[in-house]
Amino acid sequence: MIHLRLVTLALFLGLLACLPVGFVRAADPGDRPLLKPFAQTMAKRVIIAVIDGPRRTETWDEPTRQYIPKQAKELAPQGTLYADFRNTGFTYTNSGHGALVNGFYQQIENGGHEMLARPGLFQRFLRATGKGPEAAWLITSKDKLYILGDCSDPEWQGKWNPTLDCGKAGRGPLGGYRDDRVTLSRVLTVLQTAPPDLMLINFKDPDAMGHGKNWPGYLQAIRDTDMYVSTLWAVIQTDPRLKDSTALLITNDHGRHDEGRADGYISHGDDCEGCRKISLLALGPDFAKGRVVTDQRNQTDLAVTVARMIGIELTGSQGKVMDELFVPPLPPKSSAP
Ligand SMILES: [Zn+2]
Ligand SMILES: [Zn+2]
Repeated sequence: MIHLRLVTLALFLGLLACLPVGFVRAADPGDRPLLKPFAQTMAKRVIIAVIDGPRRTETWDEPTRQYIPKQAKELAPQGTLYADFRNTGFTYTNSGHGALVNGFYQQIENGGHEMLARPGLFQRFLRATGKGPEAAWLITSKDKLYILGDCSDPEWQGKWNPTLDCGKAGRGPLGGYRDDRVTLSRVLTVLQTAPPDLMLINFKDPDAMGHGKNWPGYLQAIRDTDMYVSTLWAVIQTDPRLKDSTALLITNDHGRHDEGRADGYISHGDDCEGCRKISLLALGPDFAKGRVVTDQRNQTDLAVTVARMIGIELTGSQGKVMDELFVPPLPPKSSAP
């Protein structure tokens, strides 16, 4: 009897010795690639181009679409247009951009002095793939958008950051805003030199001109940014390294107040239709052409969709993959190599 107890005790101690010391943190699915990046798409890179703050009434909902002739006549027939794409969170720059990058609406300070709470596409992609910062670029006219490359989660802060080219100084907060034409030229240089896997672009002028109470300037800025995204797509189509392997998602961070609401086109930031309703035009080898999607989608859905393409997960995001975009449909995750 005593012998049996000793054997049981020995077995028990042996089992204990096999257990790891201390608690092991449950793996965050966002820590590792779920799929090989771009394993299920013809696209081998994704560019998110954010046109800052135009209102639908001057873009897609303007009857003749006279301020966005390039997107309306040349680009839309080549891609999928969302008729009801929205900012369903906080309708200002850093929050709208933040949702596009990490799939969460955060009521973040808007001057570039507060970090995102959660890691986004850039950090998760670089961590999951082990690639260097040159594989992911943030190229923005607004200096304060450098915040999109990092977050305050202690496990992630300061690690796996993308290459920054933000505002006048190129590196962030103190440089001030720069001309959108400079941003476009940086984008084209990077794409033609060493095309990265992931890029986010911000063109600031519709927003800046609106705040400047300059109605003709605001309309011109919508025309100018229409030209910039069309130039970008044209360059992609003429470069054999980029053509048929690049997805371009043209969208916005927020709109502007409806006419009659507060100061109208000059400002934004509440939940009026003008502030919430934005646009998305998706171009790329995997997306339906000449199609209009009427389902309501929002910025967190876009983030989660890009995450799916690059083989990562934005853990905890409420966003849903926009399956309707893909032709043929994306196979289940489990069938990836
Ligand atoms: Zn603004
Ligand atoms: Zn509003």
